[in-house]
Amino acid sequence: MQPPASASAAPAPAAAHVEALLASYADFPQPGIMFRDLNPVFADAAAFRAIIDDLADQHRGQFDAVAGIEARGFLLAAAVGYAANAAVLAVRKGGKLPGTVLTEEYNLEYGSARLELEVGQLPAGTRVLILDDVLATGGTIAATTRLIERAGYTLTGVGVVLELIDLHGRERLGTAPVHAIVSI
Ligand code: AMP
Repeated sequence: MQPPASASAAPAPAAAHVEALLASYADFPQPGIMFRDLNPVFADAAAFRAIIDDLADQHRGQFDAVAGIEARGFLLAAAVGYAANAAVLAVRKGGKLPGTVLTEEYNLEYGSARLELEVGQLPAGTRVLILDDVLATGGTIAATTRLIERAGYTLTGVGVVLELIDLHGRERLGTAPVHAIVSI
């Protein structure tokens, strides 16, 4: 007897989930920006599991901590940290963290921003994987890279769900391997 199709089919790779569910909004949040909404990917249990497994597997054995960038990077970092038994660092928008913090100012595809990281959370040399939803101009991840290095950690990788290749963000990042589940 044939097994049901769902039992024999291989799980769809993460990229297929992202391509099927990604939503795009022209002129949001301002004219000229094509906003890429990954919430439909997060809202699909199988898709979310696939992207978390993909991000964890691409860098498996190469990180002790994940740094998630506020806010959508938090969703990824929490889940990848749990899946990989890794510590979680929250890279927050300016003015939200107490105590001694490191600060980096940077330019966005639209506007400018400030990111911060608390110091002394993990030992110097801890291997860190940076996670965010979208790599656009690269300013956000480049600023996070500087925070990680200023804090004394070792950046061993960057993972994103979606890379917007026309914006050349990858070129602004350093030598650590950058993995994008989908590049468009
Ligand atoms: P960037 O610093 O330009 O690489 O921008 C990356 C950050 O801004 C990410 O945290 C994204 O969530 C957000 N972002 C920038 N451009 C877009 C876009 N076109 N669609 C969705 N999110 C974007």
